[in-house]
Amino acid sequence: MAGTLIGKVAVVTGGGSGIGRSCALRLARDGAKVAVLDLNEGAAKDVAAEIAAATSTATEGGSAHSVGVGVDVADRASVEAALAEVRDQLGPIAILVNSAGKTGYHRFLDISLEKWTSILTVNLTGTFHCCQVAAPDMIEAGWGRIVNISSSSAHSGQPYMTHYVASKAGVIGFTKALALELGPAGITVNTIPPGFVDTPMLRHSEEKGRFGATVDEHAARTPVRRVGRPEDIAAACSFLVSEEAGYITGQIIGVNGGRNT
Ligand code: NAP
Repeated sequence: MAGTLIGKVAVVTGGGSGIGRSCALRLARDGAKVAVLDLNEGAAKDVAAEIAAATSTATEGGSAHSVGVGVDVADRASVEAALAEVRDQLGPIAILVNSAGKTGYHRFLDISLEKWTSILTVNLTGTFHCCQVAAPDMIEAGWGRIVNISSSSAHSGQPYMTHYVASKAGVIGFTKALALELGPAGITVNTIPPGFVDTPMLRHSEEKGRFGATVDEHAARTPVRRVGRPEDIAAACSFLVSEEAGYITGQIIGVNGGRNT
């Protein structure tokens, strides 16, 4: 895919870590100018610097432009300010990958309204904010690509995670509805529900004993016999935002090693 996104501006939320970081690096390799957005501003800037270092030595396809911007996707004013900075530095937004996410693990009866709301606000309302603030650029251009990172847990369910699973199921429904509405404007909207991808979020859950087994034990029970890599999600994302994927919208593209078919 090297070079297929040349000149296009891509925003990746949660780009400072894990899946978002991998998507940011991949889209830069594909030629996009990439804005890395994250709650952890330092991590966002580090990934932007990594992109700049990698692309400045690339012989073809790479973009020399990347920025790292701090954002709280749960906060509308923060999203508006961050995307204004992206437009200022890189230009109108053509591609949006929503990977920022927050997890939680609580017995259903222990979920306070505050805990419930904080997860719904980052995962679902955050996706809403970013799409609504970025979409006008895509509508204006008559071309756009949105990829929302949901979760395979929205298909399988997951005990002690009703708040998280509900938020990710919401992202799937949101994606389907938005795809129908933005399709006539030349914009595709799809969702990737990852399953068991080796990131800081996954290792944190393993450390807390939330899986009832180690990552390696789960990997041994996964049909392709390994844990997912962030690059597996980035590869699917790279395809979904490409020109060639223009007839694919409103879809749930599972990348989970066969755990959920
Ligand atoms: P990760 O390594 O923890 O990355 C998530 C990033 O999002 C972190 O840098 C985090 O910053 C950032 N973030 C959190 N809240 C934010 C906010 N309010 N505004 C902006 N950025 C925020 O986790 P990951 O595994 O790559 O997860 C990426 C996405 O995939 C998430 O939406 C997650 O739910 C989903 N997912 C992952 C898996 C998996 O197996 N890894 C499976 C299913 C779904 P801080 O570190 O500062 O909080």
